[in-house]
Amino acid sequence: MTVALVGAGPGDPGLITVRGLELLRRCDAVVYDRLVAPELVEETPADALRILRDGLLQKQIDDLLVALGRQGLEVVRLKGGDPYVFGRGGEEALALAEAEIPFEVVPGISSIAAVPAVAGIPVTHRGVADRVTIATAHAADGSLPDYASLAAAGGTLVLFMGLGRLRELADGLIHAGMTAATPAAVVSRGTLPDQEVVAASLAEIADVAGDLPGPALVVIGDVVALSGRLGLQGRRASLEDAPDTAHGLADPMLVLDERKADEALAARAEARSR
Ligand code: SAH
Repeated sequence: MTVALVGAGPGDPGLITVRGLELLRRCDAVVYDRLVAPELVEETPADALRILRDGLLQKQIDDLLVALGRQGLEVVRLKGGDPYVFGRGGEEALALAEAEIPFEVVPGISSIAAVPAVAGIPVTHRGVADRVTIATAHAADGSLPDYASLAAAGGTLVLFMGLGRLRELADGLIHAGMTAATPAAVVSRGTLPDQEVVAASLAEIADVAGDLPGPALVVIGDVVALSGRLGLQGRRASLEDAPDTAHGLADPMLVLDERKADEALAARAEARSR
């Protein structure tokens, strides 16, 4: 019996880990958040208990996980992104540890870097940003973010749960000394089919992005300017259309020689059609 705290990834069901999917496919019970992809909950056995955590207080979830674990069930606690990034996974793990229920953590792809990435924003970029600060706009005690230290941090700022107070955030940062012209973006529903990305200066971002649907991530810093060149190209993965053959050239040096790369690709295409 174990309880596994499993990260579901940022939204697209194709972005769960292999280990996470394996545990889902053989669990007795899954306790899941509203934000996780419904396709992943569907991966659990037909007779598994499926419990949506909506409406439960954190203490009730902790107690539920302990109770399910005590019954000797294989339990998956499926959480958006990574369980230990602004997801209260740590609180659930502490409750399990205290009750002496064996548990494991299966990390997930957090939205921290994944959501900016699919919007064309590398959170670090040589010569542009050499550090990333992540923060929540909603502290547990309701206090304001520490604007002075956020504005002084340099590099890229990634703010969770900030959509609802975007104007306040932008004003707070500008008053604390951040340049009003700093590029900023809001990525709404990142990695999902209805993903939207809106970029503007820090001074203007609240005017243009305040109405986007959640969940949304706020990214501030010069790296945002790269989204013009890197943004929204290529397809996003999902469980349905994951390729069934591995791709890539065997020898990475081949790509440096165009002719050889063409030959290698032609050979692969031929092998695949056989
Ligand atoms: N554990 C999660 C974060 C949970 S807090 C993780 O590691 O990603 C919820 C916040 O995460 C949201 O308010 C939003 O700011 C951000 N978020 C999660 N999924 C997102 C997505 N698909 N697109 C944009 N922001 C997302």
